[in-house]
Amino acid sequence: MEINHIKITHLHGIGSQKAEILRREINVISLKDMIYYFPYKYIDRSKIFKISDIKNKTTYIQLKGKILHYKYEGKGNSKRLTAIFNDNTGNIKLIWFKKFSHIPYLYKIGIEYILFGKQNLFKKQITIIHPKLELKNKFHEKKLGIHGQYNTTEKMKKVTLHSHAIKQIIIQILDSTKIQETLNNEIINDYNLINLDEAIRNIHFPKSNDLLEKAKYRLKFEELFYLQLNILSVTKNREKHLSGFFFKRVGNYFNNFYKKNLPFELTNAQKKVIREIRHDTNKGKQMNRLLQGDVGSGKTLVALLSILLAIDNGFQGSIMVPTEILALQHYESISHLVKNLNIKVALLTGSTKRKNREEILQKLKNGEIQILIGTHTLIEDKVKFDNLGLVVIDEQHRFGVIQRSKLWDKNKISPHILVMTATPIPRTLAMTIYGDLNISIIDELPYGRKPVKTFHIYEKKKHELYNFIRKQLQIGKQIYIVYPIIENSEKIDLNNVKEGFNTIKNIFPEYNICMIHGKMKQEEKNTEIKKFISGSTQIMVATSVIEVGINIPNASIIIIENADRFGLSQLHQLRGRVGRSSEQSLCFLVTPSKLSNNAYKRLNVITKINNGFVIAEEDLKLRGSGSIDGTKQSGYILHMKIANLSQDEQILIRARNLAIKILNSDPTLENPQNILLKQQLDQQNLKYQTELARIS
Ligand code: ADP
Ligand code: MG
Repeated sequence: MEINHIKITHLHGIGSQKAEILRREINVISLKDMIYYFPYKYIDRSKIFKISDIKNKTTYIQLKGKILHYKYEGKGNSKRLTAIFNDNTGNIKLIWFKKFSHIPYLYKIGIEYILFGKQNLFKKQITIIHPKLELKNKFHEKKLGIHGQYNTTEKMKKVTLHSHAIKQIIIQILDSTKIQETLNNEIINDYNLINLDEAIRNIHFPKSNDLLEKAKYRLKFEELFYLQLNILSVTKNREKHLSGFFFKRVGNYFNNFYKKNLPFELTNAQKKVIREIRHDTNKGKQMNRLLQGDVGSGKTLVALLSILLAIDNGFQGSIMVPTEILALQHYESISHLVKNLNIKVALLTGSTKRKNREEILQKLKNGEIQILIGTHTLIEDKVKFDNLGLVVIDEQHRFGVIQRSKLWDKNKISPHILVMTATPIPRTLAMTIYGDLNISIIDELPYGRKPVKTFHIYEKKKHELYNFIRKQLQIGKQIYIVYPIIENSEKIDLNNVKEGFNTIKNIFPEYNICMIHGKMKQEEKNTEIKKFISGSTQIMVATSVIEVGINIPNASIIIIENADRFGLSQLHQLRGRVGRSSEQSLCFLVTPSKLSNNAYKRLNVITKINNGFVIAEEDLKLRGSGSIDGTKQSGYILHMKIANLSQDEQILIRARNLAIKILNSDPTLENPQNILLKQQLDQQNLKYQTELARIS
């Protein structure tokens, strides 16, 4: 029987309780799942170092030698035990800070020990803190090797499933099984891979560092290859089956708008994207295009022009956005842009009043409304179009894959889909989660924009910042101040928007201030936003609800309180609220003086880099792919066990090219030589679907 059909309870020592914990905590059900649960790190005890060879770099070291003498240092709370350890090539200092009273009795002077521990620099001297010592005579040679460590959760530890126990389970499986190959010989040879059985054994119990690297490579390659084969075969099949509407002509709506209403010259990047969309919609196939463009790059206009193309061909168009504020804003700006063109635009959100809603639904169905703008209410079954031809999904990272696909069913033939995002996704990630989309990129900002200047300011210097702000207000600037939370709870003590509002009112009594946060009613939010747009308030105090899409060009300064609390892409989005005119805009990131290492790195990136694409790459490096916005719902990413999209780009590209080559010659994988690939793919698909079901 194949190991993916054998349940983990089949093993000695795994009863139903442990099995249930394994399933819930790490999604392990079968023996195969278990052996695909890889160590998260390795402790290298393959080598015994000489003290004279130790460099500052190697972190964990293993030594063979004797303790020469002990000594107590420090007083009171900082009292510690130290020892000098000698191996005939030199001395190294050992330190115990805690529980040291028994140590001199346990480890005797002059006897040979094998020592293992982590190097530290303590008072500029290389030391080993709390080392592990074992009598040389009793030391098992077996311990000389590379040892994998497994991640375990609290719940697992409670039922004694700690790292060592996982290791024992895996030994039990590997002792009785030979792992069947999942790749063709030809691929294994061409790509210089080791076979699967060897790879699995060495990923858990590496025979050498070299074999460990080869095992990792083989497993990453396999993982990325099947991922790509999966994504690309889905795309190929869809292209074959899904016909789409023909937008045959560019007509009066588009042309009149272009000639009479276009408020500015399009950037070259905007023009390029319009051409791509024009091309896609003129093929008789459904368009599925992702438009990535940095904040402020002018995506709304591209959306509108594509919709005008749909209207010219007798279709309706629709824009779906993640928040009501953004829906309202799009509604207003688009209504304004198409004035005099005799186009009916409507707004539909959760707070649209019933009577109004019914009228809209009616007019949508009979085709009177040509452009519908709204929130995810658009997906509801009640919303029926007369003839929907194109859907734009703005700020797509806020929606899931599933929501996107629901829009497909809004017409007999699926409408064309344009998804837009200002949170650019690194290329490797895009290939993986949006492998089924074509990608357009707007890589230039409208003419005359100046990059936002960004400064990191410590809280204690805030009064200087306020002095500066006062001068800016005096010359007519508008300012956003963003807080991480709405109000304080017992758990978190951060600057919050409600207190912030009062503080700011006291500091700037001569100016008008408005406030907006997620707990306010939609109508209140709208009124506050309108006050700011009209200029009747000069300062807007807000939470990150303003993060997506808000476009108020006159506001040119943004202050972000507790900036260390925000992620990189969020900071970039927030900063994107300014820099929307030809004015020099400024962004101030305020933080306490004590910062975590990671927060410090984020602030460093955001103050130095303005390009959203580069920031996205940095974000991926700092956080790993699983946590990037919009990827949480991607079953593909969840499924990844070993490959790392920020580090394994080269492997990804090789694996992808191989998948493309194979699918080009055998799109449905029916050739006899591809049987193995087809089987693997079907098996993985099954798993992928169950995982999607788990998260949705
Ligand atoms: P985003 O890509 O972030 O959605 P928007 O579509 O909101 O950006 O556009 C940002 C601002 O730039 C808007 O005020 C818009 O009117 C303006 N804009 C868009 N295209 C151009 C252009 N080609 N030239 C000048 N300004 C433009
Ligand atoms: Mg936008």
